[in-house]
Amino acid sequence: MPLSEDGLPPLREVIARHGLDARKSLGQNFLFDLNLTRRIARSAAPLDAATIVEVGPGPGGLTRALLLEGAKKVIAVEKDQRALPALEEIAAHYPGRLEIIAADALRHDLASHIDGEAKIVANLPYNIATVLLTGWLTGPWPPWFSSLTLMFQKEVAERIVAAPRSESYGRLAVLSQWCAGARKLFDIDRRAFSPPPKITSSVVQLVPKTVREPACDVSMLEKVTAAAFGQRRKMLRSSLKSISPDPSQLLANLGIDANLRAEQLTVADFARIAAALGADRP
Ligand code: SAM
Repeated sequence: MPLSEDGLPPLREVIARHGLDARKSLGQNFLFDLNLTRRIARSAAPLDAATIVEVGPGPGGLTRALLLEGAKKVIAVEKDQRALPALEEIAAHYPGRLEIIAADALRHDLASHIDGEAKIVANLPYNIATVLLTGWLTGPWPPWFSSLTLMFQKEVAERIVAAPRSESYGRLAVLSQWCAGARKLFDIDRRAFSPPPKITSSVVQLVPKTVREPACDVSMLEKVTAAAFGQRRKMLRSSLKSISPDPSQLLANLGIDANLRAEQLTVADFARIAAALGADRP
């Protein structure tokens, strides 16, 4: 069989040889098109000045693209033991440039592998994508990564970059945009994946802010947005009752109209409310 342009066997052959049939429980939808994975890899450029952390390399389509596009060092964290031999083949092809960690990214301390600048690039398992993103954004700050280039279901991507007064604006938009500059780069047709998921995917890039302003306690910010968007049709004077004894007074002190609804507030408004409520005490 002819080799791919990186000198490795084609991914379909790798998957067949290692019996890597896609498992739904692991959110496995693989990308085969090297042009597409190279485009995703290039979105995170430059790749040679930072360690690239990839969550969920699977058979290694995106991993190979990252290495082909010049990543000096990739650390790939994969939960599915079945994928490890395929990943070892890539590591052997690129000596010293690919480190494989067999672990659950939800439990593993990725930062412990990083010394210097790091970027996260991943086609995330759709079932844990928002949990991973939220975990990264609520961790120690400034964070250990300088950018996140991530593939999500399109609907989730839209929730990350949504502006106030739009349907997708909610908790994820507020947290993401308080922490980072966030933009949607491009969509990926469902048919590019094997097996094809039900909906389109999108690549999103988040570049963390050095300082998150207005300053507030991140878990209090989460409490405020949970209360406000948990009852998004209600006015704030009512929806914030679960976290403040007198929301009308709290909002008046901040110059925020208590008759507004959650989706009408800016990201900064939410941070100011959280700051006024102080640090979250467990
Ligand atoms: N990167 C490959 C690609 O683009 O074709 C595969 C992407 S697939 C959407 C998601 C990958 O994440 C799968 O390989 C899956 O086994 C892996 N995965 C799922 N849950 C994981 C977890 N908790 N920790 C690490 N990897 C996980």
